Amino acid sequence: VRPEVAGLPAYDPGADPDEVSRSYGPTRIIKLSNNESPYGVSAGVVEAVRRRLAAGVARYPDPMGKRLAEAIGDKLAVSTEHVILGNGSENILELLSPALLGAGDIVTIQAPCFSLHEIFPRMMGARVDKVPFTADFGFDTAGWLRALAADPKIVFIASPSNPTGVILDREQLDTILDATPETALVVLDDAYHEYAMSNPSYPDGLEVLRGLSRPWIVLRTFSKAYGLAGLRVGYGIASDARLVDALNRVRTPYNVNQVAQDAAVAALDDQAHLAETVRRTGLERTRITKALRAAGFRVAPSASNFLFIDTEQSAVVVAEQLLRSGIIVKPWREPGYEGFIRASLSLPEENDVFVRRLLEICALGR
Ligand code: PMP
Repeated sequence: VRPEVAGLPAYDPGADPDEVSRSYGPTRIIKLSNNESPYGVSAGVVEAVRRRLAAGVARYPDPMGKRLAEAIGDKLAVSTEHVILGNGSENILELLSPALLGAGDIVTIQAPCFSLHEIFPRMMGARVDKVPFTADFGFDTAGWLRALAADPKIVFIASPSNPTGVILDREQLDTILDATPETALVVLDDAYHEYAMSNPSYPDGLEVLRGLSRPWIVLRTFSKAYGLAGLRVGYGIASDARLVDALNRVRTPYNVNQVAQDAAVAALDDQAHLAETVRRTGLERTRITKALRAAGFRVAPSASNFLFIDTEQSAVVVAEQLLRSGIIVKPWREPGYEGFIRASLSLPEENDVFVRRLLEICALGR
């Protein structure tokens, strides 16, 4: 095993629901650990999946995902040579590293961030520079300018960010773009885009980037607001067809299965279902943030479908206590964030159970 791989942190998907039931007893599990949608998919998606299964899956899927790439291209006004499909958007994060990075290349990421922004570049032996948020989850302008002066080859930004849920406003996005070397690829991880769309401070990154002549790629997914996490479909829109060509060369030929391709086309077709998911999530975000703050918790200002909460005690211990009640959240372990848990917003009743139990646990520890 290459030393770059042996030294990697393992991806942490959070506690396994079956294991939680077995170990602690509760049969009802409230899974708030993976930022999934509790509202599922539209009826059209169910029908598309049924139709595909009835037609049979004995044949390999369309290796280029033409129908889905065209549907995405039509929606976003880009031609299909600028669209890359992935087995989840994490698959595209995965492809970027072998396509672009070699040992010693520099990559700039946010901290804390989605762990794969760090793991895939490190596999290639790249150096990963982290730019922390300010103490109140703000944007550290000086930190970004310092990091970008090191001449990175890729800059990863997520807005809304995971785990904080915080967005970059237009001025902050412009600060990063202006200071990023023209030779560097800007990767805008837009996994939670749909949840932030109605936020007046949230710039549509794709619209900002497509006006620029520099290299960029915007990553989006069907896993979150579209409710298709289990089928694994994500996509990227790239500034340059040559980047899409390079990513196509390093991917496996049939990386997105046919059921997932059909489901994603149907999901795009039902924008009303998407809007309803986003609307309900937004109501819960406001309600639960307010309840937690009223109880004295510090909560990052999220524009997404999850909350990053300071428990002011060991997050690992708090998460373990929640597991005993069948509630799965993700505790943070990074220095400076050891008190934080990340919890997805679920159905109102599940969110209520979570808040009630969290208050009980934390009152004991305060
Ligand atoms: N980017 C970010 C910021 C995420 O939080 C996630 C999912 N946790 C992903 C990408 C990957 O999502 P998927 O592979 O399901 O599209």
